[in-house]
Amino acid sequence: MTATLHQPSPSIEREGVPHYRMFIGGQWVDTEEHYEVISPADESTVATVAKATTGHVDAAVAAAKAAFDSGEWRNTPPVKRAALLDAVADKLADRMDELALLNSRETGIPVRASAGIAVGFPLMHIQHYAELTRTYEWTRPQAIGGVVLHTGFIQKEPVGVCAGIVPWNFPGLITVWKSIPAIAAGNSVVIKTDEKTPTFALELAQILSDAGLPDGVFNVVVGDGPVVGDHLVGHPDVRLVSFTGSTATGRRVMATASKTVKRVLLELGGKGPNIILDDADLDVAIDGSIYAFLLHAGQACESGTRLLVPSARKDEIVERLIARIATLKQGDPTDPSTDVGPLMSQAQKDRVLNYIESGRAEGGTVVVGGGVPEGPAFDKGFWVAPTVFTDVDNSMKISCEEIFGPVLSVLTYDSVDEAVKIANDTEYGLSAGVWSRSISTALEVAGRLEAGSVWINDWHNISQVMPFGGYKQSGTGRELGPDALDEFTQDKAITVDLSGGVENRAYGLVLGTPNES
Ligand code: NAD
Repeated sequence: MTATLHQPSPSIEREGVPHYRMFIGGQWVDTEEHYEVISPADESTVATVAKATTGHVDAAVAAAKAAFDSGEWRNTPPVKRAALLDAVADKLADRMDELALLNSRETGIPVRASAGIAVGFPLMHIQHYAELTRTYEWTRPQAIGGVVLHTGFIQKEPVGVCAGIVPWNFPGLITVWKSIPAIAAGNSVVIKTDEKTPTFALELAQILSDAGLPDGVFNVVVGDGPVVGDHLVGHPDVRLVSFTGSTATGRRVMATASKTVKRVLLELGGKGPNIILDDADLDVAIDGSIYAFLLHAGQACESGTRLLVPSARKDEIVERLIARIATLKQGDPTDPSTDVGPLMSQAQKDRVLNYIESGRAEGGTVVVGGGVPEGPAFDKGFWVAPTVFTDVDNSMKISCEEIFGPVLSVLTYDSVDEAVKIANDTEYGLSAGVWSRSISTALEVAGRLEAGSVWINDWHNISQVMPFGGYKQSGTGRELGPDALDEFTQDKAITVDLSGGVENRAYGLVLGTPNES
């Protein structure tokens, strides 16, 4: 099936599939070499896309810098910047079904989830940033004490050229998080998409351009991380890097960015502890815990992958997990009745199967799944069945490392203190959750968990008004809400001596009293 794209689209038809070019300085730029964008469900070609070199990165950064230096966009009043974002949201809304299907084909996420997460949430977040752009205090008056009357202003100014490095799991959502607040604040942006999932950022480039964003403010390159991504991160004209991906790559990004002292925002891996307390409503907690680890076949950094259950209720909980997972339909992600799709790539499938083997080798017991699902539907594509391990302790590889696949480890505890200790015994700290009928008990436990987001009787609830980011090695900085505008601005402190300098006694610290002659 070839996705039918709305026109105008950045893609052109080439050998029966859409071919995407990159967007640099307001121009669509093609290359001789290109990547194939492969459907993870059946390995068919979804699209082809131009392949960037470091020269394209240099061109994109130069275009972004020229746009920033011209001042056209950053000096546009916030209300006008907000109006442009409203127009972008409207244009995206018109294309929701088509882009959700494209995202489903490209990433393998079931289309039911794709409509909300890949397009619906980005749309809501753009609308929210439009509203915030109107209400954010871009200039903050500040009274200053002292003998002489001073006053001051804190100006929230754009940082300059911002690089956004986007992974393959939620390319739409993360492209929006890395570009829209930056643009709202008056910056210029260069997005580097993962080569497997470039289409949303390129479609967004067209939409932003159609809405009237000046050339060069938003640029997209598509390329290999260690070459093109690394070059972008190290570029001396890039002032800020916002990266989402693995903790290992995040460390490299931080090291490279340190050479030119860039501001760095990192949203990295997770190993979310999900605690079912003794008094939890299991009708809710079982479904919620499956949702926590199986959204996008587990390829979400904030997944709940360590399920902590009271020892006394373990058998009951595991039985109910097995029964409920048996009702889920895995298969064609473009079918609205599908619950679980494939993994992103052969590399990801191999990696997840290796973790499953290591779990078995370390003494874990597979009670559901444990390999590739059976049947002709799974001959092509990158499939791993939803898998649940019991007999896991927190020192095993499957409970320490981010698997990024449909694998849940069930661990037991005998007291709430022990549950909290196990939950926090990780280098990660992105997400955590607690299930309980007692909100006060759940809140007490939530307060003890080392994680940037804690959900009570819920999971994956990433709201546009709440900050999102990690504790410990899950990252630095916060996305979403007003925090994101804080991240993409720098403070300028302007102080005014209202006496015109005439009464400024501080001069005396250097000048002393003039001699009377
Ligand atoms: P990755 O961290 O290597 O890649 C993420 C993004 O960074 C991609 O756009 C990639 O091209 C780019 N990149 C890679 N090396 C770079 C470098 N040196 N400099 C700049 N950019 C670079 O992740 P991956 O290899 O695609 O997946 C590996 C593992 O990472 C997964 O199994 C998963 O555990 C984790 N992951 C996490 C997230 C997340 O949302 N936290 C997203 C994707 C992958």
